[in-house]
Amino acid sequence: MSVTKVHARQIFDSRGNPTVEVDLYTDKGLFRAAVPSGASTGVHEAVELRDGDKANYMGKGVSKAVNNVNTVLGPELIKSGLKVTQQKEIDDLLIKLDGTPNKGKLGANAILGVSIACVEAGAVEKGVPVYQHLAELAGVKPPYVMPCPAFNVINGGSHAGNKLAFQEFMLLPTGASSFTEAMKIGTETYHTLKKVISAKYGIDAVNVGDEGGFAPNVSGAEESLELLTEAISKAGYEGKIKIALDVASSEFYKEGKYDLDFKNPNSDPQKWISGTELADLYLSYVKKYPIVSIEDPFDQDDWEAWSHFTKNSSVQIVGDDLTVTNPLRIKTAIEKKACNGLLLKINQIGTISESIQAAQLAQSDGWGVMVSHRSGETENTIIADLVVALGTGQIKTGAPARSERVAKYNALLRIEDEITDGVYAGDKGLSAGLTAPALLKK
Ligand code: PEP
Ligand code: MG
Repeated sequence: MSVTKVHARQIFDSRGNPTVEVDLYTDKGLFRAAVPSGASTGVHEAVELRDGDKANYMGKGVSKAVNNVNTVLGPELIKSGLKVTQQKEIDDLLIKLDGTPNKGKLGANAILGVSIACVEAGAVEKGVPVYQHLAELAGVKPPYVMPCPAFNVINGGSHAGNKLAFQEFMLLPTGASSFTEAMKIGTETYHTLKKVISAKYGIDAVNVGDEGGFAPNVSGAEESLELLTEAISKAGYEGKIKIALDVASSEFYKEGKYDLDFKNPNSDPQKWISGTELADLYLSYVKKYPIVSIEDPFDQDDWEAWSHFTKNSSVQIVGDDLTVTNPLRIKTAIEKKACNGLLLKINQIGTISESIQAAQLAQSDGWGVMVSHRSGETENTIIADLVVALGTGQIKTGAPARSERVAKYNALLRIEDEITDGVYAGDKGLSAGLTAPALLKK
């Protein structure tokens, strides 16, 4: 069936900022999608179209993007007569209507809203769950792989009002036997961490950051890693939980150096460190703590530092701001051997088809792929379906707290409940670029 009506509106994300919601109708009913938004966005991401009118919503209104859905994308999609199951053709049409390399004319936020709504409609048209429809679009066959969640339990960087430079400290219950057990391990350790932090720093230190993780005013990364170690041990999960970091270092790259005190307006430039010194810090942490993955260890254009570190590293090195889910940037990263993991954020590129293409390109070079939320989220859960469909075995969608984060984890619990022959990825998704069948053989 084809689309009969499209209507977009402005709603709000988890930070209280405007975002785009799209209602798409076929004769099977209404299909709704909402679009996420980042804070530590990479400069090479597709354009998130904002009104820029400072008198309204601090310039963050999305009325132009909403209007582009209602007057261009929606009407043209209806006119095309494409069936909602023809996702690739639909996404190609949306890309063509925009006509720019970075979706700067109509906005990646406008385009993505329509793209997601079509996926939802396509699944109902076929009478299958969304993850199955997406798996068929991606050419991935069952059995399905349930991902290992990466719970971001300590928030820093541009996501929290503390001094901590590194943005995310994540717990990965790799030793669980199912996604359901991973949730048990993750939530129990999260609550234990709350007690550990509260006992050490007082109750005002357990306020949370943008992704639901705690945001204590720790002195730096090492202190955070010690807190995680204590919580893991006290919760009784030593050996069952590994640690991942998202440094988001583009946020504190200044004049060729890295400023670990970047939230201090009087930061002393003498103390800014080189890429080599930062790399040495990472290596010392990897030696001391069960770290299995480091995201954005260096600035988004500091290619040399990336390549050198990846060559000498034993853990997964994930490109986020570096690769921005963009096949062209991923190709460059493959050529330069800059990383061996992709962070997959659907709004960095703007359509579901291009997101699938990005994941498969990364996998073709043996990379791991971690599907990801944004720090500004809505109740939309498409990424839960996408990670199961792609079978990459890794997802990060914040702490196991706050409904915009937990909505995705709860969707995965429902999927696990429904799938009878699925397997839990554990740490196998981290072993780089495995497809679902290969994951099962390992
Ligand atoms: C990230 O950097 O991986 C992230 C989720 O944050 P944001 O959405 O702010 O880019
Ligand atoms: Mg990141």
